[in-house]
Order: sequence, then structure tokens, then C-alpha cells
Amino acid sequence: MVVWICPECGVGNITTTLGKLTGWAVQVVITCVDCGYVSKVTNSPKVSVPSRTGGNQEVYNVNLRLVHGMQNIGKGMSAAEEFSAVKNMHRPPKFNKYEAILNIASENVCKESIDTAKEEAVA
Ligand SMILES: [Zn+2]
Repeated sequence: MVVWICPECGVGNITTTLGKLTGWAVQVVITCVDCGYVSKVTNSPKVSVPSRTGGNQEVYNVNLRLVHGMQNIGKGMSAAEEFSAVKNMHRPPKFNKYEAILNIASENVCKESIDTAKEEAVA
């Protein structure tokens, strides 16, 4: 048995609740009943990626990697849903948002490659 001690007051009266769920990213909210200390922990870091509107957005790395991995093995969202269900995991995120991010990233790599090829052809 694990006994958690509050980092604020040093008492072990801690509760944990499930926080926000974003695809496979899961947040756990740790609360001290005695002093009200709250800490939120997520199972995945966020990564900054290009958005459709031109700026950047932050998404959970686990979700982006899930969609990228499924694309690489030729599978889509329904396969990810089935896999999640078999593994008793939370539902995967909607794929269209992450597919758009991966498409933008692919376009950027293609443009850079073409620009490099043009520079080499001129030089
Ligand atoms: Zn406390």
C-alpha cells in the first residue's frame, strides 16, 4: 500500500480523482483534504505544433503519436477505437485534428526539401 503525504502540510489525507480526458491523455487531480493543496498530473507532455490558422497550438504528445503510429501501419480511427477497447483504455481522440497537424508538418518538410533542392541546383 502506498501512503501519500501532502507536500504542503505533511499530512497523508490525500484523494485522487480523474481529471480531464483528452483522447489517451489522462489527468489525475491530487487533492489534500486537510489543507486544500491541489496538484494536477497528466500522463503525457504537450508539444507545440503548427495550426491550420498559421500559429502554433499545443496538443498532447501521446495523441499525436497515436495517430502518427496508426497512419504508419495503415490504420485509422476505428482501429484505434477497437485497440483501446481491447486494452481497456480510454477512447482515442478524434483523428481529423491530428491528421491535419501531421499533414501540415509533412507539407513543411516537403517545402524545405524543395527549397534545398532549388538552392543546390542554382549553386
Ligand atoms: Zn495538505
